[in-house]
Amino acid sequence: MQIAKLEQLQYARELIQAKLRLSIVAALTNLTLEPLRKMWKEIHGERSPNGKLPESALSYVKTVQMVRNLSAIVLLHQRLHNTKEITPRNLLQTWRAYNDLLGQVDPSNRLDINAAYYALRDVRSNQLTVMKCNNCRISYIYDRELSLTSHCPYCKSE
Ligand SMILES: [Zn+2]
Repeated sequence: MQIAKLEQLQYARELIQAKLRLSIVAALTNLTLEPLRKMWKEIHGERSPNGKLPESALSYVKTVQMVRNLSAIVLLHQRLHNTKEITPRNLLQTWRAYNDLLGQVDPSNRLDINAAYYALRDVRSNQLTVMKCNNCRISYIYDRELSLTSHCPYCKSE
């Protein structure tokens, strides 16, 4: 087996341990779904979830805290990796660093890796804009579609 393929399998295993949905794992690693399903069953002892995937990061936005958490992970990703691109390696690094930093302060800040992925993906495709608040100068993810994402989640300024 080629080294590159072994590496993809190792990343797939780590992404599945983190419970990233399999169709996303498949897309990120270029592996097919069948072996990934087996791997999920092996690791978690149950079948992988089959339900519909959310359409965008906004599906996860129910509270102002979530806007803050998603904003924080987007900024952390850009700071750590200096790119908007998403690879298995940089996604795992960003997600772990985020949970180490913020999840330890308050466990309710811990972020589902799927939500993290969607936030990064939507910023990369410019569906979400990173906006700097004119008032408090903190950057956040902006989208006019929801009232929660159409103003600064920290000071509530427009
Ligand atoms: Zn602000």
